[in-house]
Amino acid sequence: MKNEKKTLSEYEQELLQAEREAKEAEAKDADNRDKAPRKKKSHRRLLITFLLVMCAIPLALCIYLLMRVNSMDGRLDRIADALGVSRNDVTEYRYRTETTDASTADQSAYLTPEIATSADIVFLAENYSENELEKEQNENAPDDIDSAYVDSDDIGSDREEAPADDAYSDNEGAPELVVAEKPTRLNGKKVYLTFDDGPSEHTAEILDILKKNNVKATFFVIHRDEPELEQLYSRIVDDGHTIGMHSYTHEYEKVYASESAFEKDVKDIHDFIKKVTGVDAKFYRFPGGSSNDVSDNVQTSDMIDYLNEKGIVYFDWNAASLDAEDESLTPAQLNENVMYYVESNPGDSVVLMHDFKNCEPTVAALQSLIDTLKSEGYEILPITDDTEPVQHVTN
Ligand SMILES: [Zn+2]
Repeated sequence: MKNEKKTLSEYEQELLQAEREAKEAEAKDADNRDKAPRKKKSHRRLLITFLLVMCAIPLALCIYLLMRVNSMDGRLDRIADALGVSRNDVTEYRYRTETTDASTADQSAYLTPEIATSADIVFLAENYSENELEKEQNENAPDDIDSAYVDSDDIGSDREEAPADDAYSDNEGAPELVVAEKPTRLNGKKVYLTFDDGPSEHTAEILDILKKNNVKATFFVIHRDEPELEQLYSRIVDDGHTIGMHSYTHEYEKVYASESAFEKDVKDIHDFIKKVTGVDAKFYRFPGGSSNDVSDNVQTSDMIDYLNEKGIVYFDWNAASLDAEDESLTPAQLNENVMYYVESNPGDSVVLMHDFKNCEPTVAALQSLIDTLKSEGYEILPITDDTEPVQHVTN
């Protein structure tokens, strides 16, 4: 019985134990059942957090970039205001500077980086002014001329065609801007000051300054319709300067429309100069220079052949003030540019400057330029038959 009791009690205990275990197991199951959704919930929370972060980062970046763009836009406006030009001009200027960098790679071997850019701009300078001038001539109202120099929506495409790149990448016909590694200041070198695109409202002032200093220069003129400008052609000649041809219309589409158009244009400006001054002009400067690549419809070599046939000598340049390239340059900066090239050229210098509506800084710089050139021993001369031509492209 005792054993039986014991056994019973053991059974009881076992039953109790089993019951406890069952309860525990149940509790555990219940616990596990609770935990599963909790796990699911926490996974979901993680996923949502992850998605939020993934959305928030790009969003924050977008907002940041937008703010940067706005701030840069504002800066561009302020720069345009400060320069007194339109937004297009500022962006175009940047574009040109960027695109010309590559073409100056060859030069960088012997030019400082700052000058490499400037040197490249020399060619662009003429091209720029040409485009501006074309625009001016397309606008008959005199009041529009001012704005023609700044509101230039269409010059971007023209500038892409600037002649500098080809001239340098081909490394042909443009040795004139290849400068000595160390500038030398050799006394006795000759400097030929040349003024393109005139006559203009500033020609008389330029002539006055030249006269006061007893300096003779060269004016590559175009045909101007304004009666008040007509007497300036004669005054250029009467004052002893050289009058050269720079095309009749100065409009690329017309001048370079075809070989016969070019020949007619040369004849027209030649005959016009002959009519108003009596001079048989024999020096020529191509609009855009001989290295321009805006003259797609006519071969440069054919134009050169024609000029040679007529006994006309064309002159490009190997120094420039960059007055047409950047009208915000101060007179001192213009002269620094000229002097850099003049001092760097191993030989004589033909300096490109402009005589057009917006050339006040050029006029303001002239006296100081003459003083500097004279004080350094340079001889300032007009182009004559004895002048060695500077030509970017030759046959
Ligand atoms: Zn010109």
